Amino acid sequence: MILGIESTAHTFGCGVCHERTLLSNIMDTFKPPVGGIRPSDAAEHHAQVAAKVVTEALETAGTSASELDAVAYARGPGLGPCLAAGLVTARTLAIRHGIPLVPVNHCIAHIEVGRLACDIDDPVTLYVSGGNTQVIAYEEHRYRVFGETLDIPIGNLFDQFCRYGGLPHPGGPAVERMAREAAEAGADLIELPYVVKGMDLSYSGILSDIKRRLADGADMKALCMAVQEVSFAMLTEVTERAMAHTQKQDALLVGGVAANKRLFEMVATMAHERGGDAYVVPREYAGDNGTMIALVGEQMYETGIKEGIEESFTTQRFRTDEVDVTWIGDSS
Ligand code: AMP
Ligand code: MG
Repeated sequence: MILGIESTAHTFGCGVCHERTLLSNIMDTFKPPVGGIRPSDAAEHHAQVAAKVVTEALETAGTSASELDAVAYARGPGLGPCLAAGLVTARTLAIRHGIPLVPVNHCIAHIEVGRLACDIDDPVTLYVSGGNTQVIAYEEHRYRVFGETLDIPIGNLFDQFCRYGGLPHPGGPAVERMAREAAEAGADLIELPYVVKGMDLSYSGILSDIKRRLADGADMKALCMAVQEVSFAMLTEVTERAMAHTQKQDALLVGGVAANKRLFEMVATMAHERGGDAYVVPREYAGDNGTMIALVGEQMYETGIKEGIEESFTTQRFRTDEVDVTWIGDSS
């Protein structure tokens, strides 16, 4: 029985996993009164809700802290003060109940919960969120990054654009709705900078272009449609090349932006043309959550990975391909 703690950014989440069964998924998300997230404010929020979220996650799972074998925590990547708040909670439980800690990479947790929930063995994963944009696939004991953003993440592109246009945070859902309305009204596609360099993508040119066009009086809905079409086409191109290179059949979408129906439609069309399929992580596990940390923690724990509190630490930069993936066999 493993408890997982997630605290890399705006969400403090906690979940329990036992033999790959996800028993609970409780979270409390910090919402800044205005603008973006200030890490110290989010960390204070996490410290305040930690005890409540942990208790509820154990109760919902029908267990108690004394039943736990280990506590898994998100080591990174993320915001320093937020990560520290999660580690303090994890260490407290570890000391109190005399159990070890398991350090989990946040990006890998997104992939693993998607693989389990969609029952898909070996996909090319598109991890698209407010803080990350990566195309990832498993090869020889590592999750390798085949392509990624060279500047801002795709969710951040939507959020910054919406903030500039006076729409509430997070911007993604508003962009999707307005883009659909523009498409239904038959709006013309506005041309935006399509920047794919090798396997990597760049979104900062799109952001400056749409801000300028908005200031010049362009229609917000038509811009939303254009920003989706161009940014998603770039992602689909890189995903397709990663699938061709790795000879994998299926694509898996994880992270907050994976909720977008148009993105799924484009990736699914591409995957079907290649004879494969596309999957999207269920909404409850799409955003940051503690259950995905518990799941990876359990798999790591079973292969002998654990640490005492003196060995535990967090790190703001923690690359997906740094982790030795001990829990997937060679056949994958
Ligand atoms: P995460 O960082 O995984 O918590 O996801 C949050 C990000 O997902 C934010 O940048 C949101 O704007 C974005 N997002 C949420 N829903 C949608 C959507 N329907 N379409 C596009 N982006 C979305
Ligand atoms: Mg995330």
